[in-house]
Amino acid sequence: MLVLGTLNRKKAQELIGLLELQGVQIITLADFPAVHPVEEDGHHFVENARKKASGYARQIGQWVLADDSGLVVEALGGRPGVHSARYAGPEADDAANRRKLLAELAGTPLEQRTARFECHLALADPRGVIQAEAHGQCRGRICFAERGEKGFGYDPLFEIVEYHRTFGELGPVAKGRLSHRGRAIEQIRPILQRLLQTLQDG
Ligand code: IMP
Repeated sequence: MLVLGTLNRKKAQELIGLLELQGVQIITLADFPAVHPVEEDGHHFVENARKKASGYARQIGQWVLADDSGLVVEALGGRPGVHSARYAGPEADDAANRRKLLAELAGTPLEQRTARFECHLALADPRGVIQAEAHGQCRGRICFAERGEKGFGYDPLFEIVEYHRTFGELGPVAKGRLSHRGRAIEQIRPILQRLLQTLQDG
């Protein structure tokens, strides 16, 4: 069994769709209501992903795959970065974060609106020891207004330049091929499959 170390329902859905592991049951932290949130106070995605994977694995005694991800906007000196989920404040939802991003970029011309999504994945064993990691990136730019309703987070504002489409317009199959998360999963999938298969066989 593999537990996804997230309470973000849409992120979990995306991870489950991308993982495609044979013979492995995948559940999320939603099935562990007593779990305490791990504080995400690292300065980099890698630190937060490791903290979440180890912290949750130790609490629940299961293999945990954690994703820490976010949007890095060059014109904003890398913001929102590791603070992407709480950009507009501790209780902010995705729509409020997108509004803040558009406000911060008001007056910034198209050629300076380059950005990237980053994703770091960390897999911890039931004792909390990190056993595998992967990283993925995806480049694009922030448009002037939201386009499309698919995906989550900043997807309706993040345009893949070659496709002239935002992740909000592209949908899960194309996003899975191009995205930071899709690329990180591609790297970690064979390792995960092997590790979890060995456990089941043993
Ligand atoms: P985390 O749960 O701390 O890793 O927060 C990740 C945050 O980054 C999300 O709440 C979104 O705001 C943003 N984010 C990460 N990945 C994506 C994505 O694939 N699309 C849109 N926004 C994303």
